[in-house]
Amino acid sequence: AKSAGGNRSELADPEADARAITRHGLTTALPTALERGEFFIEYQPLVHLGDGSVRGAEALVRWLHPQHGVLGPDRFIPLAEHTGLIVPLGRWVLEESIRQARAWRERHGGRDAGPLRINVNLSPCQLSHPGLVQDTVDILERAGVTPDALCLEVTESALIGADDDLLKPLRRLAEMGVDIALDDFGTGYSNLANLRRLPVSVLKLDRSFTQGMQQFPADPVDLKIVEGIVTLAHSLDLAVTVEGVETGAQAEQLRVLGCDTAQGWYYARPGPPERLHDLALADAKG
Ligand code: C2E
Ligand code: CA
Ligand code: CA
Ligand code: CA
Repeated sequence: AKSAGGNRSELADPEADARAITRHGLTTALPTALERGEFFIEYQPLVHLGDGSVRGAEALVRWLHPQHGVLGPDRFIPLAEHTGLIVPLGRWVLEESIRQARAWRERHGGRDAGPLRINVNLSPCQLSHPGLVQDTVDILERAGVTPDALCLEVTESALIGADDDLLKPLRRLAEMGVDIALDDFGTGYSNLANLRRLPVSVLKLDRSFTQGMQQFPADPVDLKIVEGIVTLAHSLDLAVTVEGVETGAQAEQLRVLGCDTAQGWYYARPGPPERLHDLALADAKG
């Protein structure tokens, strides 16, 4: 974009210029990238804090760009949201990860803890897209996966001030048995009482909350805050998942505080689907 200074001001900040070019380049390359199959998904295990078993995984999309190599979602999801490509891209992520959940189920079925579940992120544009419910139903049916194996993650900020029209598709999905998780919980400013209005069954506590617990003992104020959230969540029948668990001390303190499920580098970084299968199998044996 040309600023008031014209060419000269563009030259004055070559880095900003390079960033803009990359952003523009990435944006125009997005549709063909989807056609060419340049996206892939990594899976990060969700671990039950009580017994340490792997209960499922979150699907995290990546782009293997022919020139720039592997790009993380923070580089291209905002661009895809801006252009609307997030709708077909998000549909692809849903289809691919549910297909994967089916494969895990076949190779890993029959455990007491039940089949591995799959968590998929939903962007605000997908939420307001009229095809969401039907697409999800179709994808589940095609894969032969029951709705209770799926959890859709929606950020707290996407639901702040959401009116009934926006909540309706989520309610329908929840009624079908799909879990809805409130992602990045604690980063927005939602009224806690507001939670009762939302069709969510899981709170995903943002990493910023658990960062103060990497050491033992943790900051007592941090502990009190998390303890309060867990108590409130459980009183509303919500399960609590904690993100960004990087140390054993963190995991232990969060377990004692009553958190249900954890996710983070302490257990595993996001990785290929076979890795999740191996982790879950090792865990079933151990
Ligand atoms: P998120 O949903 O909050 O996902 C968790 C992020 O934390 C992931 O980053 C994950 O790799 C990272 N993470 C996991 N464990 C740890 C840990 O122990 N320490 C630290 N420091 N980080 C950890 P990633 O994969 O870069 O994804 C970033 C964001 O991109 C996600 O945040 C999510 O909002 C978005 N995203 C990813 N995949 C999709 C998708 O398919 N659709 C949409 N709409 N958004 C997606
Ligand atoms: Ca998420
Ligand atoms: Ca999150
Ligand atoms: Ca986050």
